[in-house]
Amino acid sequence: MTTRLAIVVPCYNEEEVLPETNRRLLELLGRLREAGAVSPESAIHYVDDGSRDGTWSLIESLAAADARVHGIKLSRNRGHQAALLAGLLTVEGDALVSIDADLQDDVSVIEQMVAEFRQGAEVVYGVRDSRQTDTAFKRTTAAAYYGLMRRMGVDLVHNHADFRLMGRRAIEALREYGEVNLFLRGIVPLIGYRAATVKYDRAARFAGVSKYPLRKMLTFAIEGVTSFSIVPLRLITLLGFLVSVFSFFMICFVIYGTLVMKAVVPGWASSVVPIYFLGGIQLLAMGVIGEYVAKIYLETKQRPRFFIEKTL
Ligand code: UDP
Ligand code: MG
Repeated sequence: MTTRLAIVVPCYNEEEVLPETNRRLLELLGRLREAGAVSPESAIHYVDDGSRDGTWSLIESLAAADARVHGIKLSRNRGHQAALLAGLLTVEGDALVSIDADLQDDVSVIEQMVAEFRQGAEVVYGVRDSRQTDTAFKRTTAAAYYGLMRRMGVDLVHNHADFRLMGRRAIEALREYGEVNLFLRGIVPLIGYRAATVKYDRAARFAGVSKYPLRKMLTFAIEGVTSFSIVPLRLITLLGFLVSVFSFFMICFVIYGTLVMKAVVPGWASSVVPIYFLGGIQLLAMGVIGEYVAKIYLETKQRPRFFIEKTL
């Protein structure tokens, strides 16, 4: 039995790279098809995440030129994860590969992914061998973040972004996760089933600029933590406990000083310092709790994750 492969490509203002991406993906599909690894119905699905440039009309012309090219247009920009999810949850296929439009992920690695799938892996993770092309800032912050997530007990595949293959069973499992803000990188390992990894070198963006400025990266990072870990809340409890113990001893000391030593120091420091100290800790604690309350607020609304305007 040959595999019906579907390649899902989220695109946000990617008109500069899309023709080249399409050329390489079609070439890859041709190769896989000739090798008898995938079925003739295998296709490429571009998800236009509310682009403001000519991305959609480009997708339309690419689809008109080749029957293997399909398009999904979201009603507006919803972000990379939502666009990815829209593609994964709606397209047909036995094996779905998600890949960025900017050709940072090595297209030819999809061949190995399909091979692993055909040997029984349900999920195949693309793992970056080197991060030479990322900026030093992105490398260090990413490394710190992955380390932090691991220490908080979140099971992330090291150096894996959203370049992966998922079998039909894994996709159906993914559908069961109802979270509105899905952090795919953290959810997929939770699904289980047999997994494999393939290595590749991450290239520089082929054309255009990153659609992930620092602000979006930060939001994404906080999203990842609050979706998977309650460790920050626990740390606050612990901090509160330690500060309470400390202040208990301080009270004892003051009582001892007053009653036994008869020396009431006009202690400006001992009254003002704790005000700032506790004020700081309380604000911090409220901030973290607020993050989770906000999360509950956002998730309980159960808002739809995406709307598809049209498909090709
Ligand atoms: N993307 C998207 N919606 C967005 C932002 C990005 O669909 O709101 C897509 C983008 O077109 C690309 C992928 O997500 O295919 C990754 O974005 P980018 O390469 O800009 O991120 P970086 O690699 O710089 O982290
Ligand atoms: Mg990129």
